[in-house]
Amino acid sequence: MDRYAVFGHPINHSKSPLIHREFARQTQQTLSYEAILAPLDQFPQALAHFHQQGGRGANVTLPFKQQAASLCDQLSDRARLAGAVNTLYWQDGRLYGDNTDGEGLVRDLCHHGIDLTDSDILVLGAGGAVRGVLPELLAASPRRVVVANRTASKAESLAEAFHSLGQIEGGGYADIEGQFDVIINGTSASLAASLPPIDSRVVKSTSWCYDMAYGNKPTVFQQWAKQAGARGQLSGLGMLVNQAAVSFELWTGKTPDPASVHELLLQQLRQTS
Ligand code: NDP
Repeated sequence: MDRYAVFGHPINHSKSPLIHREFARQTQQTLSYEAILAPLDQFPQALAHFHQQGGRGANVTLPFKQQAASLCDQLSDRARLAGAVNTLYWQDGRLYGDNTDGEGLVRDLCHHGIDLTDSDILVLGAGGAVRGVLPELLAASPRRVVVANRTASKAESLAEAFHSLGQIEGGGYADIEGQFDVIINGTSASLAASLPPIDSRVVKSTSWCYDMAYGNKPTVFQQWAKQAGARGQLSGLGMLVNQAAVSFELWTGKTPDPASVHELLLQQLRQTS
């Protein structure tokens, strides 16, 4: 049986085993998928052991995404740009790394009918998640991407790192000018039930607001977006399921149905509220 796994620390919260087992059931693949808690200082050893025991591929989550990139023999362009990997697979003795977070986000936006072409996109935050999604957001041909971060210099550095991919600016919250078609919260503020210092004037009645975080009820950012009069407020659960779908496709060549798994996770989350 083909073995897959997700590595992280902590890992017991991970929804990846459920998602991938559902995808395997949908597409009639015989595979196993487990969650592996790698010791903080032994991720490479844990990964090598998994491969020796028949592991074919793996997902990687915090805090190992950057280290995973450094272990690969070959990276996809988007993983190289992100400097982080969430999907690994072995082929002909070589370890390949990809980053499917950005494609997962863009697919989820697409699924909701949100067209990024010629759009004005505001991205809040400049951490690992934002770095991971910027290559795909810029590849979707927006008019401009503005990255705003509490520590403005980090957003400026990201804009510099990605300027060859499209129109991108970076700065602090006070530097944000104009209104946006899509506003993506890529900060971890929602995890602490707080809101980045964002002015509601950036929202117009046609804006879509997207929080990469998710929970069993709308996040503070989603609530803020609703009050600010946005057209819609989405959570990152769809991104999670869609990034997994891209990994699954890379590994098996089969196309699962993320929408039904999204619904299943939503039901589970509602039960915990
Ligand atoms: P990082 O720790 O790498 O970055 C955190 C970012 O949030 C930084 O830019 C930080 O700003 C900012 N921040 C934290 N608290 C606040 C605050 N109170 N106000 C304003 N800004 C704040 O985290 P990640 O990039 O890995 O994760 C970011 C979010 O994305 C998390 O909520 C995570 O759960 C989510 N995520 C969702 C995924 C999905 O599939 N749905 C996948 C990956 C991540 P500063 O630089 O100034 O400290």
